Amino acid sequence: MTAKDYALMPRNGYFGPYGGRFVPETLISALDQLEREYRRAMADPIFIDEFDRCLRQIAGRPSELYFASRLTQKLGGAKIYLKREDMNHTGAHKINNTLGQALLTLRMGKKRVIAETGAGQHGVATATAAAVFGLECEVYMGTEDIRRQALNVFRMQLLGARVAPVSSGQCTLKDALNEAMRDWMGSVSGTHYIIGSVAGPAPFPEMVREFQSCIGREARRQMLSAEGRLPDLLIACVGGGSNAAGLFAPMIEDESVRMVGVEAGGRSLKLGDHAATLSAGAPGVLHGAKSYVLQDADGNTAPVHSISAGLDYPGVGPEHAYWKDTGRVEYLPCSDEQALDAVVTLAHTEGIIPALESAHAVAEAVVRAPKMGKDRIILICLSGRGDKDCNEIAMLLEKRK
Ligand SMILES: *Cc1c(COP(=O)(O)O)cnc(C)c1O
Repeated sequence: MTAKDYALMPRNGYFGPYGGRFVPETLISALDQLEREYRRAMADPIFIDEFDRCLRQIAGRPSELYFASRLTQKLGGAKIYLKREDMNHTGAHKINNTLGQALLTLRMGKKRVIAETGAGQHGVATATAAAVFGLECEVYMGTEDIRRQALNVFRMQLLGARVAPVSSGQCTLKDALNEAMRDWMGSVSGTHYIIGSVAGPAPFPEMVREFQSCIGREARRQMLSAEGRLPDLLIACVGGGSNAAGLFAPMIEDESVRMVGVEAGGRSLKLGDHAATLSAGAPGVLHGAKSYVLQDADGNTAPVHSISAGLDYPGVGPEHAYWKDTGRVEYLPCSDEQALDAVVTLAHTEGIIPALESAHAVAEAVVRAPKMGKDRIILICLSGRGDKDCNEIAMLLEKRK
């Protein structure tokens, strides 16, 4: 067994002490069925071919590995490359995962999919995959998010999905996830729940990481062809952690490659002002798995804040918790202000408006590149494009004047 096989080997759905299945009895057999079908599919060349074809023809892969020459020049240090997940169909990396899970849904003979969504990006990616394969689709979304993300609500509906409003708790992502779980408990025989990140009970964290690993496999190959070697540093933003896991996993055994996950540092590191789960949280159980969680003194899940809706989550995927504890990956927060600056910097230097989520990763490169030699290489996962955030960005820049 190679180091990689070992590092990535699922241990009954655990990554060190994290992961597992903390769910009601009714879901155990559904998770067993999903895991069986997933393992069969990954060993079936017909599934692998079909998934590859979908990634090419529907998502538009492979995504470019782009040398950001003007950003590199401006920062005056390490060479900066961008993995352009923003150029995928629907504008982010999320489509990689929803295509994989939609194919699995067909294999399981199910005709309906459900999903939770915060900003609406995972909802749109799920609605898109459902439309492509003729699946019925229902997306749970907090009423607060429905109000803030009207355009994505309309996109989902135009794609044929039903958007189910959730008005419990903070009326945001965490509450939508609870509601989707509840639906699944009553509908599991004909419905698959497409979780949008490397979170949730086993086998979701491993499965979503594998479906997103096209990012890191392509980047590895593209980097070897462009530079003849691997990058010195990978940087990705971490909400639940799927774009980061997809980039990191295929290079996790390459010891020369350092990795940084950037979380939403928000307004401050006071509880309620941020969503930096690994930087400021503690081990706990949320949404069916053990991982780091942001909790108040009574053990209730804490309210979170970020300018970026996709990072605004009080949990994080269990494999990231494991990578943090083992020291393989470093995690740190980036403030709202730094992320906003990075949007402007990337737009001016490269003509790319990044998603507010991705801007957190860019901001970390802005800090590190000048301190690294010109012979060093940084690879940033540009997880999505910023069109969806333009209203928010305009408002934030206006407030700053
Ligand atoms: C949803 C989203 C994220 C955060 O999700 P991860 O699972 O942490 O990748 C990051 N970037 C974009 C563009 C997103 O839409």
